Amino acid sequence: MKHIVVIGAGQAAAQCAESLRRKGFDGALTLVGREAHLPYQRPPLSKKYLAGELGLDRMLLRHQSFFDEQNIQVRLGREAIAIDRAAQVVQLDDQSTLPYSELVLATGAAVRRLSLLGSEGAGIHYLRHLADADRLRAAIVPGQHAVIVGGGYIGLEVAATLRQQGMAVTVLEMADRVMNRAVAEPISRYYEAEHRSHGVDIRLGVQLQRFECDAEGHVRFAITDQGPVPADLVVIGVGVTPNDALAREAGLACENGIVTDEYCRTDDPKIWAIGDCSNHPSQHYGMRVRLESVDNAFEQAQTVAANLTGTPQVHHKVPWFWSDQYHHKLLIVGLSQGHDHMILRGDPAAHSFSCCYLKAGELIAIDTVNMAKDQMAARKLIAAHARPDPEKLRDITISLKDCL
Ligand code: FAD
Ligand code: NAP
Repeated sequence: MKHIVVIGAGQAAAQCAESLRRKGFDGALTLVGREAHLPYQRPPLSKKYLAGELGLDRMLLRHQSFFDEQNIQVRLGREAIAIDRAAQVVQLDDQSTLPYSELVLATGAAVRRLSLLGSEGAGIHYLRHLADADRLRAAIVPGQHAVIVGGGYIGLEVAATLRQQGMAVTVLEMADRVMNRAVAEPISRYYEAEHRSHGVDIRLGVQLQRFECDAEGHVRFAITDQGPVPADLVVIGVGVTPNDALAREAGLACENGIVTDEYCRTDDPKIWAIGDCSNHPSQHYGMRVRLESVDNAFEQAQTVAANLTGTPQVHHKVPWFWSDQYHHKLLIVGLSQGHDHMILRGDPAAHSFSCCYLKAGELIAIDTVNMAKDQMAARKLIAAHARPDPEKLRDITISLKDCL
């Protein structure tokens, strides 16, 4: 009997298993996950779960009953430590082995750690897993000082949540604006202003030098090139690196993630890679990308499930991302790298606007703030390589789909 083994039990893995069954795969199916929990959604970890507004039960992607009904073996608290490609066997950390006919790597990403003096101090947190969120949540004390290192998604979402929990929050960002790589300047400035209006101290162009801890080893200050910042709690959100060591050690091609073709297949025809760990050729943008989003995990999982059930499918999607901070909804459709023109659609002062990115006249991406209605039209226009009229794009009274 065929046996598909999926390494990782996160967003991509759970979706892959579910899609395999939905598409009719009736062989043996096993998920192996290092964490102790059934696959869950990570987005609430920096938002509603951290705020105590959502329980784990509502974050689980599927309950145990689903895996039982679908005859999917889920081996939790187990790490895959080696792949023997010649024998088509995965070795687990309890010395057991799993033979596979096809192997899907969905190992995700790991937080980038700082190695500055004092960065091992108590009270210094990273956020990737449920256990990290539990530790962080237990450390929230209204009125105390939280320092957030990094003004990216984690940094800003956690800043909003901790501020709403009554902490005094300072964000340290080394670039001259927040979400520097992800969005255009008007959006960065909008979010900086919003955070400041909620009382968050956003510091830009600042270099963190070290942490100062007390005699008990608990962090007390973040020392920067602009002086010390009081810190009872520190959250570091300075990006992630792909979990590709298992693949690399098995001799698979890896470069900023596990290298795949457009079908999400690695250079071993029996091994596939999906989600944050995979580096794939974007058909739409004509370049290799490694994306870190729920949408990408979901779509790549479906692509591989189709490929493993006899319907060859190229991964060919316009990606999208979202971020919730306070009551504001940021939606990013497409990839804006390489744009040569940016058009502001709407007015940031009205709390509802978009930034449209053009490359040689083609719409390649849109960031929208509280303008969800632009999202569907944006996905269609971008997918169609549309060349909208810039004057119409600028005019908020013209709906996006009518901008051609
Ligand atoms: P993961 O969900 O990370 O799953 C990988 C799993 O594999 C992990 O459980 C890991 O422990 C396990 N694993 C790794 N190696 C092994 C091994 N050798 N053996 C066994 N198991 C292994 N994205 C959005 O689009 N919108 C959001 O609002 C958003 N918010 C986020 C908030 C937070 C706090 C975080 C951390 C992420 C957020 N993301 C968001 C990103 C999104 O969660 C990820 O892009 C998505 O989870 C990627 O799915 P994945 O399955 O590739 O990886
Ligand atoms: P990120 O979005 O890559 O942001 C990291 C930020 O930290 C960047 O602004 C970066 O600046 C800054 N930075 C890097 N080194 C620094 C340093 N030494 N001091 C101060 N700032 C520094 O990564 P993240 O926010 O850590 O998120 C981690 C992962 O979770 C990502 O996969 C992310 O996509 C995911 N996530 C997603 C969402 C969402 O989609 N809503 C929410 C939370 C988390 P430069 O850009 O200038 O390097």
